[in-house]
Amino acid sequence: MGIWFTEKQTENFGITAKINRTYVSEQTDFQKLDMVETAEWGNMLLLDDMVMTTEKDEFVYHEMVAHIPLFTHPNPKHVLVVGGGDGGVIREVLKHKSVEKAVLVDIDGKVIEYSKQYLPSIAGKLEDPRVEVKVGDGFMHIAESENAYDVIMVDSTEPVGPAVNLFTKGFYAGISKALKEDGIFVAQSDNPWFKADLIRQVQQDVKEIFPITKLYLANIPTYPSGLWAFTLGSKKYHPLEVSEERFAEIDTKYYTKEIHFASFVLPKFVQDLTK
Ligand code: SAM
Repeated sequence: MGIWFTEKQTENFGITAKINRTYVSEQTDFQKLDMVETAEWGNMLLLDDMVMTTEKDEFVYHEMVAHIPLFTHPNPKHVLVVGGGDGGVIREVLKHKSVEKAVLVDIDGKVIEYSKQYLPSIAGKLEDPRVEVKVGDGFMHIAESENAYDVIMVDSTEPVGPAVNLFTKGFYAGISKALKEDGIFVAQSDNPWFKADLIRQVQQDVKEIFPITKLYLANIPTYPSGLWAFTLGSKKYHPLEVSEERFAEIDTKYYTKEIHFASFVLPKFVQDLTK
């Protein structure tokens, strides 16, 4: 029994999972939101029929968004997460003792509400005293911030609907202004198999603003093609020049200090997107 759901990547290819039951299916003010129980991946959050996260493989994405910039920066104290309403990136950010305050700005309060209810292992740290949760547009928050953050992570949906502005050069310029003089930012950048043009464009735009621009990869089975890209922009610190002693012991399932460096090793067809 159960029904099969397919996230179509193109008219000819998609990623499919068996759904045991649907907890929530509603149109919020910003997007279609589904919270379902899958047969293979635990509970899964979908926005506009795209997989956002699942209980079984969420750790890869959340660890790789958080720990690469947070170990690259020598002393991250003030952190901003744009999007990320499921709370997974925040959970990872809080593993860094240097972090005094983490602000999360997601445009859709319903994502936060349902994630707390149906994804407690992911959203469980959103109530932590070091965390401030704001419901609002990340683009506006960035536009209003100056010299405020050591690290900014953009954990957004794909560039459709409310996230379109989060993939523009104007947004990256705003991020640069919102960061301190030695700040670092990371943004999820979709996948090189089907979104090569997007990745190429983001690389070009970020390069014009940040002196250090790097792409890194992770394997995420429930995202289309399984190969996921992240763009890092840094004003001062290079992610490949992190000294050994900087890697404090934290509890992870994907990220290690070896993965930190290895994730920047790109297959040729991905390297070509960064030129
Ligand atoms: N990890 C996922 C992926 O790569 O598919 C994305 C996670 S999901 C939690 C992304 C979040 O970005 C959603 O909760 C959505 O509401 C939020 N979002 C989209 N546009 C936004 C904006 N302009 N400002 C703040 N949050 C936004």
